[in-house]
Amino acid sequence: MKRWMSVLRTPVGLTATVLSIGVLVLAVVAPLLWTDNADAIDTDDILAGPSAQHWAGTDNLGRDIFYRTLVATRLSVELALAATVIAVVVGLLIGTAPYLLGRRPGRVVLAGTNIAVAFPGILLALFFAVIFGVGAKGAVLAIGFAGAPTFGRLTQTLVAGISSRDFVAAAHVAGVPRLRILFRHVLPNVSEPLVVNATIGAGAALLSFAGLSFLGLGVQQPAYDWGRLLFDGIGSIYVNPAAALAPGIAVLVAGLAFNLFGESVAKGLGVGVVGGIPALPPSPEALEADAPAAEQAHGSGTDLVLDVRDLEVAFPGPTGPIRPVRGVSFSVRRGEALGIVGESGSGKSLTALAVSRLVEAPGRVDAARLDLLGSDLRVEETKAQRRLLGTSLAMVFQDPMTSFNPTRRMGGQLAEGARHHQGLDRASALARAVDRMRAVRISEPERRAHQYPHEFSGGMRQRAMIGMGLMGSPALIVADEPTTALDVTVQQQVLDLLAAIRAAEDVALVLISHDVTVVGEVCDRVLVMYAGKIVEDLPAADLAATARHPYTRALVAAVPDMDTDLDAPLAVIPGRPVDPADVPAGCAFAARCPLATARCHAEEPPLEADGTGRRVACWHAGEPIDLEVDGSLLGRDEREEVEAR
Ligand code: SF4
Repeated sequence: MKRWMSVLRTPVGLTATVLSIGVLVLAVVAPLLWTDNADAIDTDDILAGPSAQHWAGTDNLGRDIFYRTLVATRLSVELALAATVIAVVVGLLIGTAPYLLGRRPGRVVLAGTNIAVAFPGILLALFFAVIFGVGAKGAVLAIGFAGAPTFGRLTQTLVAGISSRDFVAAAHVAGVPRLRILFRHVLPNVSEPLVVNATIGAGAALLSFAGLSFLGLGVQQPAYDWGRLLFDGIGSIYVNPAAALAPGIAVLVAGLAFNLFGESVAKGLGVGVVGGIPALPPSPEALEADAPAAEQAHGSGTDLVLDVRDLEVAFPGPTGPIRPVRGVSFSVRRGEALGIVGESGSGKSLTALAVSRLVEAPGRVDAARLDLLGSDLRVEETKAQRRLLGTSLAMVFQDPMTSFNPTRRMGGQLAEGARHHQGLDRASALARAVDRMRAVRISEPERRAHQYPHEFSGGMRQRAMIGMGLMGSPALIVADEPTTALDVTVQQQVLDLLAAIRAAEDVALVLISHDVTVVGEVCDRVLVMYAGKIVEDLPAADLAATARHPYTRALVAAVPDMDTDLDAPLAVIPGRPVDPADVPAGCAFAARCPLATARCHAEEPPLEADGTGRRVACWHAGEPIDLEVDGSLLGRDEREEVEAR
């Protein structure tokens, strides 16, 4: 309310309000008060210029143009609004179709929309006017359908933008059907620009009516709107210019009113961001209280939660498929914490997305096996599978701000999955949401459940995201860079919380991070990924001392510890990560590796187990890398050069 009042106090808000109210009041009262004056024929005073009696003169039957302009307000506004409603409804159908229909039919709709948008609106309107026929009804349909592609294109762009956000992905993981996601999560977040566009569209529709009427295709006599009056006025413009000017000004003022109204509505709908206080550390007691639910969920025979074999993720590229994930195999057991580390572009996040069925077309996921709790995730998604993903898998995304729908209260968002999958009524689901918020140590959860995401601090949002995952009985939490967007103290709290949940609920955790320290601290086992492949798989405890792959050792060396000489430059990994579209032959790390030999450039090393449960892919695993100059790990040739000196 406060925001709307402040918008109202701005010059734009005030002008929009005054003009809009003026136009609406005129539309209602003018036909009631002045129809007789507007229709009165005076053959003694035809085509007269402006006078005290007729402010805008008279037409060819001696009728008062000023009164006719006032009376025409209702029909003009009604027609413009009707055409806008048609444009919005058809535009929404066109705009949301690609999201609802999927890849191939969606592409056809997109291509059709792009072609229609390429035509000037007035040409389309003329085309449809010919189809729908001359007259007010035909003009409304013509202008409505002509405006739909532009509105549809805007909707498509906005929907595509929002549907890639984390909270939509979370809703997909929670198994919420697409149509429901569209109405609950996507459309509320694109409504602001759509409302603005619709009001601006109403202004444009007014002008289009003037255009069609001018061509004789719009409103037909004896009815009249501003377009019709303009058409008649143009005919006598040399005798009485005011005859065209009066309806012209009316179109201008009403168009301006619609546009400014749209702008003010946009401002009034704006969502602000408020900072907050970091949340308190987690309470082990609260977490322990949840243990029975976890036991119930995990009570089945095997303790294998996730089993991945030869996972590949590919995207179409200009010269063939690009494969950012190339044959990744791993498994996670109940209660185990597995870290996946690597630089940007190593394929670690895509691996997590593939496991959660969140790789969208045109991306393609293939695997020899992709099992979550024994259920094959490679097959077409079934209702049972959606339920399994919704209750057994929790996703925690990097940016806690984009993880929630900004237009919905936190409690409702947490409760959504429970209502859907566990069949809880609204009150029970909300009560569970409050309980889960308490479990992740959000203070005053009853009050907080009624707040919006922007009223939570970053750390609290991330806790709430974890709480959302706990609404079911998760067997696996996949956390993709969960602390990257948080400050250092809050980072530690979130890591502690994840560790506490794992311990208390025996949940498996897959933690994706570029930070080898974070992974080493929280996880039991670490997979190191480079260029879409696992290059080393080892216990987290061995990371610092006995990692064998040069890339893992470089990642560890790049992190300062207590023994690091702060006066010396930190070790850096020379060169850039591999472009997934251009992976070299042989070992992908060879160009940056201090141990690279001719064999490394020619033959790709396989990922081999060493008999102790560790795996490494390197022809020279474990060989010493001990020379550093200027903080860079030296290549073999450079090392020989330095040794020869
Ligand atoms: S295979 Fe060769 S280039 Fe690749 S990491 Fe091992 S030593 Fe380096």
